[in-house]
Amino acid sequence: MNEYDSNRILDITKKINYNSTSKIQEANCYILNTCHIREKARDKVYHDIGRVKKEFRGKKKPIVLITGCVAQAEGDILLKREKYIDAVIGPQSYHDINNIILKIENNKDKINFTEFDVVEKFDQLNVIKNSDSKVSSFLTIQEGCDKFCKFCVVPYTRGPEYSRSLSEIMVEANQLVNNGAREIILLGQNVNAYKFEKKGLSDLLYKLNEIKNLKRIRYTTSHPQDFSDDLIETHKNCEKLMPLLHLPVQSGSNKILSSMNRNHSIEDYFEIIKKLKKKNSNIKFSSDFIIAYPGETEEDFEKTMLLMKKIEFINSYSFIFSPRPGTPAADMKMIDLNVAKERLTIFQKLANDIKRDYREQLRNSTVKVLFENKVKNENKFFGRDEYFNSVIVKSDYELIGKIKNVRVNDCNQNTLFGSIISEKKNEGFAA
Ligand code: SAM
Ligand code: SF4
Repeated sequence: MNEYDSNRILDITKKINYNSTSKIQEANCYILNTCHIREKARDKVYHDIGRVKKEFRGKKKPIVLITGCVAQAEGDILLKREKYIDAVIGPQSYHDINNIILKIENNKDKINFTEFDVVEKFDQLNVIKNSDSKVSSFLTIQEGCDKFCKFCVVPYTRGPEYSRSLSEIMVEANQLVNNGAREIILLGQNVNAYKFEKKGLSDLLYKLNEIKNLKRIRYTTSHPQDFSDDLIETHKNCEKLMPLLHLPVQSGSNKILSSMNRNHSIEDYFEIIKKLKKKNSNIKFSSDFIIAYPGETEEDFEKTMLLMKKIEFINSYSFIFSPRPGTPAADMKMIDLNVAKERLTIFQKLANDIKRDYREQLRNSTVKVLFENKVKNENKFFGRDEYFNSVIVKSDYELIGKIKNVRVNDCNQNTLFGSIISEKKNEGFAA
């Protein structure tokens, strides 16, 4: 979502003649868009500002803005401690960034702008064309969260659940496709909680499925509690919906799920997976896990290991529980750090073994790849298969924006390496 927000911030600031540069020394405004989901977020900001200071030593200081969830949660502390920062701007107030920049240009005071103005934000963003021209583009449809899992900072930094209107989203989706997008990844902290005037995520997926030049649709991140039967049905009916679902589970133990306030049991989770597989037998899953949540016993941890073995997630993100200031779990008794680290190592080894075995099975098979970009200075192209696996092939022909059948010759933990096996004219088209 931060990547989407960063692109939109760029679209907004173009209105006052700012543009992006890859050379830090050339910048006269430096915007650091931050994430607060796990610890050390504030330290990272100080570290990054240190780098900027070094670059600009002896030169005119650029305008320095901190946006995103660290600005929302810790803005006052940042402004007080680091005088180099000119303003902090929350994730629901960045639509006002041009006024803030103009005020700073006129030497006004430090600014802390962290209102929850999400309606106003999207009202303003809707009239500014999305200029993202990536083959695979993000599109935020929902923000915020009302679920208050005890470990999570999102309800406090992004605010309550908010869904954009279906028509706004369709306008933006068409803009992205006209810019060259062939894949759209719908975003939301709880994307499947999307609801606008009785229309849910399934209604939106059917609509997007009709956009002619759009070839692939994905959505992330879903919450098991909001996984309705009509959404499950789309995995059979929307042929553009890719067969990989990211469905965070956090733990395999009902006791821990309840203590986290996740509002579903592990049996509910299995039921969703069973129903999805019934509708689409090709579907595979990825997930998020929190290891060593307060109160997690060896037995609870074993249940998470069993869950991993049972579902065989082809990708997973696992982290040791990180206490976030202001969340209820931050006051709970932490698991000994050595135990936590040991559990994480054991869990990640299992996850990696499963991923490696899955990838080994892909050798000599055919995968359908949407190519996104060219590897710098080489005749190689990068793309992703239907399961979001990274794929690299050699080609003397332009492949960006095309979907091709690729034979997998080799693989490592992160990438599949292959060669194009189909050159049928009608399989794809240039962006
Ligand atoms: N809304 C999604 C859900 O409910 O599953 C997840 C969104 S959250 C922004 C992304 C992931 O960050 C979570 O699935 C969780 O695994 C991880 N996460 C959030 N807070 C955490 C914490 N305090 N410690 C460790 N991991 C955390
Ligand atoms: Fe955080 Fe997701 Fe829980 Fe909301 S549902 S509080 S975003 S983990």
